[in-house]
Amino acid sequence: MTSLTFYGGVNEIGGNKILVEDKDTHIFLDFGMSFGKSGEFFSEFLMPKKCNGVNDYISLGLVPDLKGLYRPDYLEKTKKPAEEPEFDGILLSHAHFDHNGFLNLVRPDIPLYCSEGSRCVMEMLDATSKMSEFLRQKVSFKFVDKKRGEGVKRLDSRDPEGTVKRDVKIADKPFSIGSFKITPIPVNHSLPGALAFAVETSSGTIIYSGDYRFHGYGDMTEKFVEKASSFDPVALITEGTRIRSNNVETEKEVYDTVTEFAGGSRQLVIANFPVRDTDRMLTFQKAAQDNDRRLVVDLRQAYLLKTLEENGVEAPRLKDVDVYACRKSWGLVTEDVDKSLVYGDYDPWESEFIFGKNAVTCKDISGKQGDYVFRCEFFELKELMDIQPHKDSHYIWSVTEPFDVKMELNEEIVMNWLKHFNITKIVRKHVSGHANGNDIKRAVETINPKKVYPVHTDYPGKFREFKPHTVRIKKGKTYNIE
Ligand SMILES: [Zn+2]
Ligand SMILES: [Zn+2]
Repeated sequence: MTSLTFYGGVNEIGGNKILVEDKDTHIFLDFGMSFGKSGEFFSEFLMPKKCNGVNDYISLGLVPDLKGLYRPDYLEKTKKPAEEPEFDGILLSHAHFDHNGFLNLVRPDIPLYCSEGSRCVMEMLDATSKMSEFLRQKVSFKFVDKKRGEGVKRLDSRDPEGTVKRDVKIADKPFSIGSFKITPIPVNHSLPGALAFAVETSSGTIIYSGDYRFHGYGDMTEKFVEKASSFDPVALITEGTRIRSNNVETEKEVYDTVTEFAGGSRQLVIANFPVRDTDRMLTFQKAAQDNDRRLVVDLRQAYLLKTLEENGVEAPRLKDVDVYACRKSWGLVTEDVDKSLVYGDYDPWESEFIFGKNAVTCKDISGKQGDYVFRCEFFELKELMDIQPHKDSHYIWSVTEPFDVKMELNEEIVMNWLKHFNITKIVRKHVSGHANGNDIKRAVETINPKKVYPVHTDYPGKFREFKPHTVRIKKGKTYNIE
């Protein structure tokens, strides 16, 4: 008998943590952070106390209270008895935080099955942020003997035993975990490497969609629907983010907007789009190129493109974009000083890009504003001081609309910056990473499972309108599949 327990993604968009159990096999589908639930208690500068390990997360209901799941150094710190791993794997659909955000709490020896694209995104996040621990965990709260002299010191992540690599397995073909046979199936979403999974169990096949859309580049989601229906599944766990919307959206609309601005003026086009969204990057890159401009990406995006390229994952090529070598710290990159002095302004991972063939600085952009489409996210607004965009510049908002107070406040800050430079040509053009209601309905009807379990949606009841066998899930409750 196979069962499903939903510890997240229930009546909320994201936070998916779904336990699938059968006989002696226990796996999770995603282990994401619920932004809504986390936001009830925490904010940017109000974070859980590290020295409380997983306790605060558990007591606030952010992660389930389960044995054999959490990292040993955190358990030890909070005086919990040592545990053996009791889970056989985590299937990661994709590397958005609402699907992988709490992996840092999970034991690194529980295998993580993900696509090469997801692994590359997590590698970028780990390399570019000191807080990120997706692929490598820094062992905490441990003292070791000093090499010289008496006494102990804190174990450092640079020490050989100071970091533990997560057991990552690339899911690019069918594989088995215990009694489950698992087939990873690529889907289109809004970052590289999104997967759905078919999990064949003793009670029949469970399809887990992850997040998907039909309107990106390629037809992977169409193929997923076909493949999923071939399993004649007993259960479909599908996302339903946009189940109530029937707006038809395409990347072409974004391309047309960029073209209208990039072709219609010789001033700077400034754009904000998500750091990991390589589909959107491709849209901007093509539109820039077709209008004799170059798309300028930031150093993290350059690192991501390099990593994807080295590992054979489809994405825009690094040579087709320019990389913004921002003035950091002492601001030496635009000054006539020896390179060795400039490197002191940057983290080691950034150094290889700042003098690369396609590196550009604020001086380059400022002097030839009509030659560029400059990607500028919220935290890069300060770069506009160095670039001094002309008042006839355009600003394209290509990110999701604000859905909470903090995002609304940030939007006000963006407007203040644009106002400061007298920029009035502002447009919002974003297309979602999620399928609309009609497409979800078509997918459900084609896959034709015995039962549907809607997750990642505020409106699971909508599914009942076209699928009577829709299960209204309760968080933490276990459902037997039969
Ligand atoms: Zn999601
Ligand atoms: Zn997603």
